[in-house]
Amino acid sequence: MQITRSKALFEKAKNYIPGGVNSPVRAFRAVGGDPIFIKRADGAFIYDEDDNAYIELINSWGPMILGHNHPMIREAVIKAMENGTSFGAPTAREVEIAELITHMVPSVEKVRMVNSGTEATMSAIRVARGFTGRDKFIKMEGHYHGHGDSFLISAGSGAITMGNPDSPGVTKGTAKDTLLAPYNDLEAIEKLVRANKNEIAAIILEPVPGNMGLAIPQKGYLEGLRKICDREGIVLIFDEVMTGFRLAKGGAQELFGVSPDMTTLGKIIGGGMPVGAYGGKREIMEHVSPAGPVYQAGTLSGNPIAMAAGLTMLNYLNEHPEVYNQLNEIGNKLTQGIRKSLDKLGLKYTINHLGSMYSLFFTGQQVFDFNSAKQSNTVLFGKYFQEMLKRGIYLAPSQFESLFLSTALTDELIQKILHANEESLIALHH
Ligand SMILES: *Cc1c(COP(=O)(O)O)cnc(C)c1O
Repeated sequence: MQITRSKALFEKAKNYIPGGVNSPVRAFRAVGGDPIFIKRADGAFIYDEDDNAYIELINSWGPMILGHNHPMIREAVIKAMENGTSFGAPTAREVEIAELITHMVPSVEKVRMVNSGTEATMSAIRVARGFTGRDKFIKMEGHYHGHGDSFLISAGSGAITMGNPDSPGVTKGTAKDTLLAPYNDLEAIEKLVRANKNEIAAIILEPVPGNMGLAIPQKGYLEGLRKICDREGIVLIFDEVMTGFRLAKGGAQELFGVSPDMTTLGKIIGGGMPVGAYGGKREIMEHVSPAGPVYQAGTLSGNPIAMAAGLTMLNYLNEHPEVYNQLNEIGNKLTQGIRKSLDKLGLKYTINHLGSMYSLFFTGQQVFDFNSAKQSNTVLFGKYFQEMLKRGIYLAPSQFESLFLSTALTDELIQKILHANEESLIALHH
């Protein structure tokens, strides 16, 4: 495998772009080596600037659930472009996608489109504060809600990997309103609620966190949060930017049967275009401007091209529920095969897997919160990543990420991945 153009591009990029990338985790700092620059993608494959092909298990961090460059979405985008790329005025497609979202995610009675997951969570917290008249909110350690100031307190994803979970530039004034709890720990929530009686506007979490690596909610945890929020008048926000339209048509809330008051969405919702959304109960969303006093706006929100891609994606998922069985099966085959090799080689590991998401942690301990995730051997993960990359498999370049599978993974490709996995694990041994 020849990698020369990617290297040259990265060297040049570092002159003009901070760290050479437009989002930190792309720089490969957590796994060593230089990033691969991507020229194009199709189905289960991405191709780099040196024309190397990789089977890929990130799918643009989630959106490409049907694989890359899907003809249906490509055609919808091209067709929409013929009528102009932005109007800054309402369109029929926005009404259609809003109606579809409320159908697929029934706890969302009204929804506002934005341009990213970051915008969705920032706006949702503002609305929850406006609705309750309270300032503080609880977030879980290691959960990632985009790069809004008040969320960069023990944030997951790139923020862990980069080793500065508390980013400079976030003021003490902002940080003091963000309360932290470990995931899967209801007693910790009860303590915070007692100590901040009538001051907590919202509890926000990834119901199934993927940004500290994947973890699974323990039995009764989400239900327990629901009860506490009902009792205390706290707005329960599920950040389903990652899990929405992925774990089920209606996201983690459908899978676990727990309804939040508000939901944030992103990634799949844009079919690969920059889109986010936040929504929830009618009485809460009626507080959003111009219906209510909480201000939130966007020049390119509901952009016609982005809406065409998102609407096509969501319509397909809505009409093809069998996609989720297919993804479960792909996830099962892949993780069972990986377990088999790890067992055979006697390596210590934990695999957390749910549907089309999984993480392999190099630790023998269970991983159920941020602290347990941090016990894994990140040096070994970095080597594993590099060994897989050499064999043409592109994984998320950090231990603290979930992988995202797509329907483009055929049995033949799964066998190729498993073969590369076993060879990589053997190489780690030596
Ligand atoms: C990706 C992600 C975000 C941020 O979305 P961006 O579109 O990257 O701003 C927020 N929350 C969760 C759970 C995410 O996975």
